[in-house]
Amino acid sequence: MPTYRELIQTSGLERFDAQMLLLHVVQKNRAWLIAHDTDSASAAHIAEFEALVNRRRIGEPVAYILGSREFYGREFIVTPAVLIPRPDTELLVELALARAPQAGRVIDLGTGSGCIPITLKLERPDLSVSAVDISPDALAIAQQNAAALNADVRFVPSDWLSAVAGEQFELIVSNPPYIEANDVHLSQGDLRFEPSGALTDGGDGLQHLASIITQAKPHLLAGAWLLLEHGWDQGAACRELLQTAGYEQVQTWRDLGDNDRVSGGIWQG
Ligand code: GLN
Repeated sequence: MPTYRELIQTSGLERFDAQMLLLHVVQKNRAWLIAHDTDSASAAHIAEFEALVNRRRIGEPVAYILGSREFYGREFIVTPAVLIPRPDTELLVELALARAPQAGRVIDLGTGSGCIPITLKLERPDLSVSAVDISPDALAIAQQNAAALNADVRFVPSDWLSAVAGEQFELIVSNPPYIEANDVHLSQGDLRFEPSGALTDGGDGLQHLASIITQAKPHLLAGAWLLLEHGWDQGAACRELLQTAGYEQVQTWRDLGDNDRVSGGIWQG
């Protein structure tokens, strides 16, 4: 029987992916693998691992194979109904945490797995956190995540802000679908398996960003921030949209990869 180390080496996958799949099969953590990597694998483990390796070989994202992905230090359930949470989005969370006033009302638009509002609520229990999504399947996953992580977040089925008419917030955040419809990345890697409605607006990539910027205004209290994640090349366009719409202190922040990633502004009413 091959050892666990040999299974990883001969899988043909990237080492990290192979390790993640193997740890899922044996239901152990990384420390266990370091101590046991020269043990012979059982026939059952080998068969189960090979099945997962085959799924990965045809491109299925590791997060969907495992059914979970870590975000901001917590495990979130993910299925093909939701976008896989990205480390880039942790920037949006950091900026939101720094700007949400004590006991403020916050809403996340297009919440997907719920990684943003759940993280905000768990990091800042004083906040009153809401989240919307147009997809009932996504909201079901977000609700499962909130229950599993014990986060008190209100989820509302809504096309952006339409279902919360009349409500106002101290902070609005969103990581909307912002990829241009003809971007080659949509037909590469993990993105091929993710819900296209969570990735692209079917147009130039700026349409949802622009409609959120317009729609958010009556929902923002004086002095409230709107923070939007966007593509590396959309910073200038987003600032332009925000400025034209009358937001103040308009600016763009860069992610850990040094790419423009979040833009925002304050609404003074
Ligand atoms: N808010 C979720 C995330 O950041 C989903 C975003 C989306 O589906 N576009 O992961």
